[in-house]
Amino acid sequence: MLEKLFAFLKRLFGIGTDSSSTSKPTTYTDKDVPDVLPDEPQDGADIGIDTTEVEVVRELEVIELLPSIDPILEIPEIELPGEIVIIEPTENEPVAKSHKPRYLWCLDNGHGKKTAGKRSPKLPDGSQFFEYEFNRDIVKRMMTQLDDLGVKYFNLVPEVDIDNYLEGRVSRANSKSSILPKLYLSIHANAAPAPHGKWSNPTISGIETWYYHNNNRGKKLAAIFQKHLIEATNWKNRHIKSRATKQFYVLKKTGMTAILTENGFYNNEAQCKELLKPSVRQKIADAHIAAIMEIETKGM
Ligand SMILES: [Zn+2]
Repeated sequence: MLEKLFAFLKRLFGIGTDSSSTSKPTTYTDKDVPDVLPDEPQDGADIGIDTTEVEVVRELEVIELLPSIDPILEIPEIELPGEIVIIEPTENEPVAKSHKPRYLWCLDNGHGKKTAGKRSPKLPDGSQFFEYEFNRDIVKRMMTQLDDLGVKYFNLVPEVDIDNYLEGRVSRANSKSSILPKLYLSIHANAAPAPHGKWSNPTISGIETWYYHNNNRGKKLAAIFQKHLIEATNWKNRHIKSRATKQFYVLKKTGMTAILTENGFYNNEAQCKELLKPSVRQKIADAHIAAIMEIETKGM
């Protein structure tokens, strides 16, 4: 009995306990966060997790990750040319005439092959996730469908051998003349803080969508995309987010309603394997299309 009382008092006053192994949270330095650009964050990976300035809007219930089983894409490593060749972006001429286009969708396939970081550690089979390749693949899958559905889009960065090209993305969208109102959709995958070249905490996963702080049209747009993305994937719902300071470049500098989708964490090993599957990519592309069609039908 006395022993139990002493043990209780010890716990109460923290005597003889190893505080470093109990409740101390894991902390990361900036060096542990992939490609941190503190003054100019480009996506969720650049700001780490759970910073206090982030406003999270819980528009949907939390849905847990469901694993699936299908093959993984093989992405070849390609040699980079020395020069960046600029390709003029073009808008489409939709095939379907049954739908009257309502907006011009400026499609931003975040980053390029020359962007440092923005890739997963290597999986045991040697495969690896590159964010530029994923973002372009999702946009490519979407463009085919948008042609067929009769929706107007503007592919902002057809180039692959390019760095982040942030100013170019934004100025192409801003200077594009269009009779239809423009909406800006930036497509990304996320990364959680982790030591260089290592997988992140496996509990961090899921999808979130960002909008420009206090912009209600952006908030509405983000909520529609987030709803469809969670419905399609059944992944963890990280909700829609914005932050008052250090907002993402493409949300801050675009002269139109803009959002940025973060489609899963590529440095979460389990989610990385999912993101490399063609069927999962198609689901993510389809969810973006479903959101676009909801907005094309109902308007903003
Ligand atoms: Zn990104």
